[in-house]
Amino acid sequence: MKAVRFFGHKDVRVVDDVEKPEPKGDEVLLKIGGAGVCHSDLHVIDEGIMPITGFTLGHENAGWIEALGPDIKGYKKGDAVLVYGPWGCGHCKPCQHSKENYCDHQSEMPFGGGLGLNGGMADYMLVPSSRLLVPIHDLDPVIAAPLTDAALTPYSAIKRSLHKLMPDEYVVVIGVGGLGHVAIQILKAMSSSTIIACDITSEKLAFAKELGATHTVNSTDKDAAEQIQKITGIKKAKVVLDFVGAKPTITLGTQVVSLDGDLTLVGLGGGVYEYTMMGLPFGVSMINPYWGSRTELIEVVGLARQKKIHIEVERYHLDQANEVYDRLRQGKIKGRAVLIP
Ligand code: NAD
Ligand code: ZN
Repeated sequence: MKAVRFFGHKDVRVVDDVEKPEPKGDEVLLKIGGAGVCHSDLHVIDEGIMPITGFTLGHENAGWIEALGPDIKGYKKGDAVLVYGPWGCGHCKPCQHSKENYCDHQSEMPFGGGLGLNGGMADYMLVPSSRLLVPIHDLDPVIAAPLTDAALTPYSAIKRSLHKLMPDEYVVVIGVGGLGHVAIQILKAMSSSTIIACDITSEKLAFAKELGATHTVNSTDKDAAEQIQKITGIKKAKVVLDFVGAKPTITLGTQVVSLDGDLTLVGLGGGVYEYTMMGLPFGVSMINPYWGSRTELIEVVGLARQKKIHIEVERYHLDQANEVYDRLRQGKIKGRAVLIP
């Protein structure tokens, strides 16, 4: 079968001699419908944030069950499912609470399929346990695949700040890409706070308005922080969600976040922040959330089935993986690119 494999620094190749796996025990073989292309892959491919090579990329996966290990009950061939991405040990307390993204054993294991272990940019994918599947019922796997990260990660980040997202408050979304474009929709669905979106091109800012942002600001403008403060007034933004995480965006976040606010750094852009006592308003929580829990993914599917959120998808064939990564490097993808076998 065909697979998109990572062989080392900037070396991604489509190979077609990978053996189709056979599920044993509680394993599941999935026929891939779609695999989302996340910016985290570029941190792996270009910046080497992970020491492992030789695995199949793709950590946002959906498809149909092709074959089931003999121990599995409750699923049948042809069922449409998502694959929950951060694979934990399955036994520790966070995993028992479905928070495998914060598994006690994370430091000892690869992150999951597509991030150290074989992922879903392939004809088929072996999922190590049926507990990692989430049924999608009537949703199309191609469109649903990015729910597993591009939607789950902002959903989990927003949920932890939901008590601060009151109707009189402001929330700033920095980066209207794969994650950010879903974040705006989740905020619309779950809170009544005024949404201010930031990106670096007029196309992305217009897209943010279409999705429900009330205000947009180009974060490369020298006076971006002043523009945001003009909107919020003296109270500033109660929550800032940074989906870039580069030095300029972190700085912008610290300038616009309010007293007792949340500055949530989701992006892995390598930005450095030098803390000083008076550099941040008092009471601010700086959070670096990672992905979301299994049960939160079930909730995200609920939002999608109710049509409260949708993924803007650019469709490509597996063979176009390198072309798609280039478009992503250049910031040219609108919403999320999905590779289809
Ligand atoms: P993306 O490439 O689809 O989107 C990034 C967006 O940010 C683009 O629209 C781009 O134009 C915009 N941008 C770039 N520089 C900017 C700046 N200075 N100011 C404002 N906007 C700017 O990326 P994505 O797939 O949405 O991922 C976003 C980040 O989140 C990546 O760093 C990724 O690795 C990270 N991520 C983190 C988690 C987690 O669990 N913490 C999960 C998934 C992705
Ligand atoms: Zn665990």
